[in-house]
Amino acid sequence: MIDESFLKRVEEARKQGKKIGIVQGSWDLFHLGHLRYLLKAKEQCDFLIVAMDSDEKIKKRKGSGRPIIPEEERYEFIKLLPGIASEVVIKEVNEPKWHLIKSVKPDVLIIIKETYKKEQIEALKEYCTEIKILPRQSESSTSDKIRKIVISSKGKQVKEINELVSIAIEDLKKRIGYTSDMDEIITMLIDHLRDSTDVVCPVSAACFYNGEWHFGTNHTDLNLPAYDINNRTELYYALTEHAEMNLLKKLGEVQVLDTPIYTTLFPCDKCMKVLIEKGVKEIYYLEDHPERNWSKRSHALAKKHGIITRPLIEKTEVETLVDMNGYKYIYPPNARKQEQLDIMIKKEAEGIDPLGIEHIDQEILYVTNYWYVTKNKFPYLGAELQFLIISKYGIYDIKDITEQMWAELKEISLNLIEEYQINGGAISMRFGDPSFSGATLKRLHVHIIMPKEEEKVRFGIGGHKELKKGLKIE
Ligand SMILES: [Zn+2]
Repeated sequence: MIDESFLKRVEEARKQGKKIGIVQGSWDLFHLGHLRYLLKAKEQCDFLIVAMDSDEKIKKRKGSGRPIIPEEERYEFIKLLPGIASEVVIKEVNEPKWHLIKSVKPDVLIIIKETYKKEQIEALKEYCTEIKILPRQSESSTSDKIRKIVISSKGKQVKEINELVSIAIEDLKKRIGYTSDMDEIITMLIDHLRDSTDVVCPVSAACFYNGEWHFGTNHTDLNLPAYDINNRTELYYALTEHAEMNLLKKLGEVQVLDTPIYTTLFPCDKCMKVLIEKGVKEIYYLEDHPERNWSKRSHALAKKHGIITRPLIEKTEVETLVDMNGYKYIYPPNARKQEQLDIMIKKEAEGIDPLGIEHIDQEILYVTNYWYVTKNKFPYLGAELQFLIISKYGIYDIKDITEQMWAELKEISLNLIEEYQINGGAISMRFGDPSFSGATLKRLHVHIIMPKEEEKVRFGIGGHKELKKGLKIE
């Protein structure tokens, strides 16, 4: 950090007649070229300040896949290189342009030609006695090649993650009936969900502290295999940072947080304990899972410590925002059987999507990136086989099905046809307003139906306005 004490140390060195130099970089995946560059920089001066871009700064410039090595580790690495850095300074994203150079006014600034434009170098001369331009260090070494492979594969992974996170965000917006005229903090929280790397349940948390807003999101270690991310194994839980923890980390050494915490999901009991320790007295949240044990424990903790917990959207408000029938996940008039209707109504009342992968109570045949496959629990009359391919992340609008999802759908369908020797039948999916399309469950799902020999299966297209005769909602 460029603070008083840092500047004082620099001044001290200057008084001792030392030549002050600055060299800057991100020093991500440190390699031989970096080391050569630093050694050359060190030759130019007696007191070398190595500036290092913060994680946030690199992300902003190079995308969310970078850096590969986190800030703390890069910092320590440079610091521990023997005899090189007299000072290591992290450059923050919100610093004014050339803040370090202008504050230190070095005797020599060491740069690589390609990093600055001619005019910039001219302008920099105002703040530096000398500017030493070095050639770019070796690019073709083995470690540099590996480095490029790691970076590009991570970039690809991040792109997929970004896409899945966007889907999860859209799902959340639908669940809460999001509109842009809601309280501003809701929009801010939702905007920040994009920084999350949790593809199933991105969470963000915020607080106003020391005159500014701070945000945190939950992070899944990107090195986790997809299996652990999708199935939430022990490894997944061990390597996931919750949004509240991430927020507190960003706040640093704050002892007592006397401002409210805002979060998209009610804090889990582990986070609640830490928030209590930090002195938090008010928590506002967008969603909760009151049926889950962690939520029950967390509410109990909050109550015991006199913490105010309040939903950001009052329940009644949500209800006026759902469709004309007031059901979020189901459309009862299209239900065919009382048993089916009862299950759906019960789940809906608990705030659960009956087609949610974690709530489905029938055997899951397999799961892919975007879909999961089951046998229909209530097959149509005359069907020999009936499979359901259900959108894993809760897609409700056909326009939200991405290219990749369509491709996967095709692959799944062909696999089922081959595996179950379906020699004929239909692939069908209803979409649009269920009162018009005839769907009972709103989450998009595809039926693959094979009829019994010499029988007819009636796949209804077209909705009803009222419950089928004989069916009732308790
Ligand atoms: Zn938590």
